[in-house]
Order: sequence, then C-alpha cells, then structure tokens
Amino acid sequence: MSDVVADYIFNPPTVVGAPIKDTQKLFPVRRVYCIGRNYAAHAIEMGHDPDRESPFFFQKNPDNLDFSGTFPYPAKSNDVHHEIELVVALKKGGTNIAVKDALEHVYGYALGLDMTRRDLQGEMKKAGRPWEIGKAFEHSAPMGPIVPAGEFGHPSSGEIQLKVNDELRQSGDVNQLIWKIPEMIAYLSEYYELAAGDLIFSGTPAGVAAVKKGDVMICQMEGIEDFEVTVV
Ligand code: MN
Repeated sequence: MSDVVADYIFNPPTVVGAPIKDTQKLFPVRRVYCIGRNYAAHAIEMGHDPDRESPFFFQKNPDNLDFSGTFPYPAKSNDVHHEIELVVALKKGGTNIAVKDALEHVYGYALGLDMTRRDLQGEMKKAGRPWEIGKAFEHSAPMGPIVPAGEFGHPSSGEIQLKVNDELRQSGDVNQLIWKIPEMIAYLSEYYELAAGDLIFSGTPAGVAAVKKGDVMICQMEGIEDFEVTVV
C-alpha cells in the first residue's frame, strides 16, 4: 500500500507547536479559545457588572501565538494592552464534558498574554461588531512553555502577576476566577467540540494597561518559570 500524498496547490501552513518545559517535544495547537471578564476586579475596571453571568469566549488564531519572548508593537493602534492569563492546554476533547471530568482533559498549563489593541476593541464594542481586529492579530498571543499537569498539578489557587519593567501592574489569584477551570472546559464543550491541542486563555486579573516599545513584561506564577516578553 502506498501512502496517499495530498496534492495541495501550494505548501500547507505548518502546525503551530507550543514548547513544553524541559523537553524538545512540542504541543500541536488546534484552536485558541479566550474567556472574557473572568476576574471580578477586571470586569469592574472595564465598566462591567462582576456578577456571575454566563461566560463568553472569543478565539485567537493558532498562528497568533508567539513563543519567542518578543512582541512586535502592532499596526493601527496607539493603545495596546497587556492581559496576563493562565493558559490551559488540552490533551483530550469532547462535547458535553462534565465539570467533574473536565480536568482529565488537561495536559498542562502555561503563562500567556492576551495582547489587545484596546482602542480598536473599544470601537468594535461601541459599534456592536466582532472584536477580532482588537484581539486576533499577528503575535497577539505570546506564550511561555507548557508545564505538564503531572508536574504542576491542577491549580485552584495561586498568585498570578505581571510586572512591566519591574513595576507591578497586574495581580490576582487563580482562586478568584469567576468560572473555574473545570467549569470553563465544561461550558465550552457544550458549544464546541473540544479536541486535543486546544488552548484556553482563562481570563485576566485587574490592572490591564498600555505598553510601549522597549517595555519588558514579566509574567509570573508560582510553579511556572517566569516568562519575559519584550515589546519591540
Ligand atoms: Mn483576555
């Protein structure tokens, strides 16, 4: 039997591989989901009600991920904000996943930044249009290496913070998540068929603010190596 080689009209895009801590192996990325307003203090700073309303999600593109430790300041914006987030990496998918079973689907965790063209996002919000232009642009998702859950555990608490040039900008605790990690996975799986390779950015704590070229963003959480990203 000979292998069937697909006859693409040009070279297909490469699979995006996220680095895994202490190994040369890569985590192949399928989709990138992001949850909005998942820490009460951040919901309030964005002018919203912090009550536990249904979660909402948007997506970034896998090729918006950037593991290089640099963030090129994007075009068409003068107000680009950092949003530090704990990223959940799935090794198994499904639909209608029960909350109690959700963590069995998790491969590991990483620190990531949901970089946002806040001015463009604001214009889209005001016009009732989709947010993609503010969220899903090139290099908009810097991410550090994934730490396997076997090593890190499944965090239900833990301080997460972001410094910019050694000044503390964002600080929160995973125990403040409005929708906990198992709940997020269960909820998403009611609306989408999740699969191995999916990433979920779990929302950002309060303190989002603008960056400028030359800034060094330092993402920190206990049990995960610091992840530094320089704005270039
Ligand atoms: Mn976010």
